[in-house]
Amino acid sequence: QTSAEAGWNFDNSYARLPETLFTRQHPGAVKAPEIVICNEDLASALGLDPKALQTPAGAAVLAGNDVPEGADPLAQAYAGHQFGYFNMLGDGRAVLLGEQITPAGGRYDIQLKGSGRTPYSRGGDGRAALGPMLREYIISEGMHGLGIPTTRSLAVTATGQEIQREMSLPGAVLTRVAASHIRVGTFQYTAQWGTPEDLKALADYTINRHYPDAAQSDQPYLSLLREVIRRQASLIAQWQLAGFIHGVMNTDNMALSGETIDYGPCAFMDVYHPATVFSSIDTQGRYAYGNQPYIGAWNLARLAEPLLPLIHDKPEKAAEMAEEEIARFAGWFEENWLHGMRAKLGLFNEEEEDGKLISSLLDLMKEHRADYTNTFRALTLSEETDMDGIEAFSQWLEQWKQRQHRQEESLEAAWRLMRGSNPAVIPRNHRVEEALSAAGQGDLTVMQKLLAVLANPYAYSSEQQPYCMLPGPSTRAYRTYC
Ligand code: AMP
Ligand code: MG
Ligand code: MG
Repeated sequence: QTSAEAGWNFDNSYARLPETLFTRQHPGAVKAPEIVICNEDLASALGLDPKALQTPAGAAVLAGNDVPEGADPLAQAYAGHQFGYFNMLGDGRAVLLGEQITPAGGRYDIQLKGSGRTPYSRGGDGRAALGPMLREYIISEGMHGLGIPTTRSLAVTATGQEIQREMSLPGAVLTRVAASHIRVGTFQYTAQWGTPEDLKALADYTINRHYPDAAQSDQPYLSLLREVIRRQASLIAQWQLAGFIHGVMNTDNMALSGETIDYGPCAFMDVYHPATVFSSIDTQGRYAYGNQPYIGAWNLARLAEPLLPLIHDKPEKAAEMAEEEIARFAGWFEENWLHGMRAKLGLFNEEEEDGKLISSLLDLMKEHRADYTNTFRALTLSEETDMDGIEAFSQWLEQWKQRQHRQEESLEAAWRLMRGSNPAVIPRNHRVEEALSAAGQGDLTVMQKLLAVLANPYAYSSEQQPYCMLPGPSTRAYRTYC
C-alpha cells in the first residue's frame, strides 16, 4: 500500500510565491508513527480515504516520514507582534505539505504541526507534545461544531518519541487543515524583509485565494483590508457570543481567511466576567475575554501598515484611507454581536433598548457569578438559572418576556431561534482535561464521546446533559499553557 491510495491531490501555489516568503523544508522523520485519532468526516470531505490514512503508509505521511507525491513541503516565514512586541518568526515547528484540492474544487492547506526543526525554530525543538495537540484537535473541532470559522484537525499522530519539556512527554504531530495559513504577520514580515514586489505578490495571492471580489474593485488592496476587517469583526463577535477566549491574539495568530487559528492557551469561559484570562503567560490580561474586540482592531491596524504603499502613492493619503477602514471595525463588531445576542434571547426584530436589556443581563451574570453558557441554556429551556430568587433578575426576566411579546413572531419561533443560537455544550475545561488525561492512559473513548457531543452542540439531547455540568470548586482556577 502506498500513500497515493489515500487520495492526496496536492497543488503548491504558495511555493510559487517569491522565495522570501518561505523555505523549502522536509518534515523530520520520527521513530514510530501511530495514528491516535483521525477525523474521518473531514478526511472524506477532503477527498481522502479515511481507511488508507490509518494504514502504516497513511500514518507515515501524517507523521512526516513520507512525503506524498505532488507535495512540496515548506516552512512559512512570518513576523508577529507578540504581546505588543514585534518579532521575526515563521513556522518554527510546522511544515506546509501543500494544498489539497478537494473533489468539490476547494483548496485547503495541509500542515504538519510538531514536525521538527525549521530555519525559523530559533531555540525550539520543533516538536509538539501529544496532550496539547489533542487539545487543539478537541477545541478546534468544538469550534467547528459551534459553526465558528476555524482551522480544523485531520489527525493526531504519535511519534513514538519523547520530547523534553518540564518533564519528558510523548511527542505527536497534528495535521492541521486551513483555508490558508496567511497571517497578519505574513504581511508584516514581507513589508519588513521583502521587496515591494514581494508584498504585491502576497497581496495579490491573498486576494485571489480569499477575496476574489476585491480584484474587481478600483481599489483592490483597500478592499482587501476592508473585507479582512469585516470577517474579523464577524469572527470575534462569534467568539464573544460563545464565550471563547483565544488567549494569544498575537498578530501571527490572526488569519487573513477569517478563521480562528492557533489553539494554544485558549479556553471557554464558565463564570461570566469580561476580565477572564486563563493563559498562564498573559499576566497583564492583554488577551482577556472583554479585550478581544479591541485587540482585534489593534491587530488589523498592524495589517493596514504594510498595505499602505499599495493603497496610495502618498503616505498621508494612504494612512487616511486605511484609518477610515479600521474605524469600521467597531461598528461591524457591534452589529454582529448585537444580532447574535438578540438571537440568543429569541429576538428577531430590533428595538432601541435591546442593548440595555442585554447589558443588564450580563451585569447580573457578572455580579452573581453566573455560568455564561448555562445561563443562556437555562433561558432557552425555561429552567432555573444561577440567579433564580434574585429580585433584579426576576425583573429582568419580566422585561425580557414583555420584549418577546412585542415582536410578531410566536414564542415557539423565538424558542427555536434560541435553541439554534445557544449551545447546550461547549468544550468545558474540566471535560477537556478529563479526555486528555484518559487519552494519556491510552483510553481514547472519553475523548471520542466528548467529540461526538461537541459535533452537535445545539442538539439539546439527553446524552449532552452530563457535559453541561460545572466542575467542582477545586478545578475552578483553570490555567492554560502554551
Ligand atoms: P505561538 O505562540 O504558538 O503562536 O508560537 C509562536 C512561534 O513559536 C511560532 O512561530 C511557532 O512556530 C514557534 N514555536 C512554538 N513552539 C515551538 C517549538 N517547540 N519549536 C520551535 N518553534 C516553536
Ligand atoms: Mg502561532
Ligand atoms: Mg501556538
